[in-house]
Amino acid sequence: KSDGRGTYRFFEPEMDRRLQARRRIELDLRGALERGELELHYQPFVDVSARTVTGVEALLRWTHKERGPVSPAEFIPVAEESGLIRPLGLWVLREACRQAAAWPQWLDVSVNLSPVQFRTDSLVGDVRSILAETGLDPRRLQLEVTESLLLQDTQSVLVKLQAFRDLGIRISMDDFGTGYSSLGYISKFPFDKIKIDQSFVRDIEKPDSLAIIRAVIGLSRALGIAVIAEGVETEAQRDALRTEGCHEMQGYFFAKPQPAPELAGSVLRIARGFGIAEDALPDAR
Ligand code: C2E
Ligand code: MG
Ligand code: MG
Ligand code: MG
Repeated sequence: KSDGRGTYRFFEPEMDRRLQARRRIELDLRGALERGELELHYQPFVDVSARTVTGVEALLRWTHKERGPVSPAEFIPVAEESGLIRPLGLWVLREACRQAAAWPQWLDVSVNLSPVQFRTDSLVGDVRSILAETGLDPRRLQLEVTESLLLQDTQSVLVKLQAFRDLGIRISMDDFGTGYSSLGYISKFPFDKIKIDQSFVRDIEKPDSLAIIRAVIGLSRALGIAVIAEGVETEAQRDALRTEGCHEMQGYFFAKPQPAPELAGSVLRIARGFGIAEDALPDAR
């Protein structure tokens, strides 16, 4: 046989394996909820000037019975392609609202929403039902969306975002600066907060990243919306961000994402670090 054909056939099994791996994930993910393999972890948002923990982000965790932990980077895209993200996303929202309803009033909860979920007409109604069912004050709920959402049918996205805000829910633009949206979009949509992507924070000592961080902080000021930096891992990054005027932060430097029962301990550690009162900490449940 010729070399050409041999080369061609060398790639085929590789592609086949990848496709099969995705199908496997999809199949396993379908039953993951019933098997109790899904769980939420929570990562605190910290205001370093006010010296407070302002809220937590809910992050989905999947521990496969045989394979162990599977990264969201691996299974979220599969869930989005297969449409499984719709039931999964509602489960995340219900679970996060249910747990947050038992925490102190000052602790907000932030939930990631996939652009795919916005292609469902019932989204706003579903969120409203979950709030009613769990009794969570809508003003304690934030929803995180990414720039890719803005590439979708603008009018229908705008209507849903406005409906959320009318309910008292706040909207954050996640991973800002990594997508394709224009700066004009950010003023057209009703965002309450911009999250500076962790890639810029990681490289904050490089002039290019610092310039972008400064621009995003300036933009948020000009538009009168809040700004938070994600992926803060070091004291140097924290100090640089504070110098630039960004006071809200999230990252391993403060706390890693934790299951609800360990969250109180996390918040307590941060509070101690700030030298502030340790009362009114979240209940473990
Ligand atoms: P994201 O919403 O931008 O979440 C932040 C990610 O950064 C999380 O990864 C978090 O664990 C990680 N992180 C936090 N602090 C640090 C740090 O200091 N250093 C580093 N290197 N990483 C840090 P995770 O949990 O693996 O989630 C990855 C992405 O998966 C999320 O990015 C989000 O886009 C998606 N995701 C997670 N849970 C959900 C969910 O319930 N629904 C949807 N639609 N997407 C989700
Ligand atoms: Mg997020
Ligand atoms: Mg993010
Ligand atoms: Mg991200």
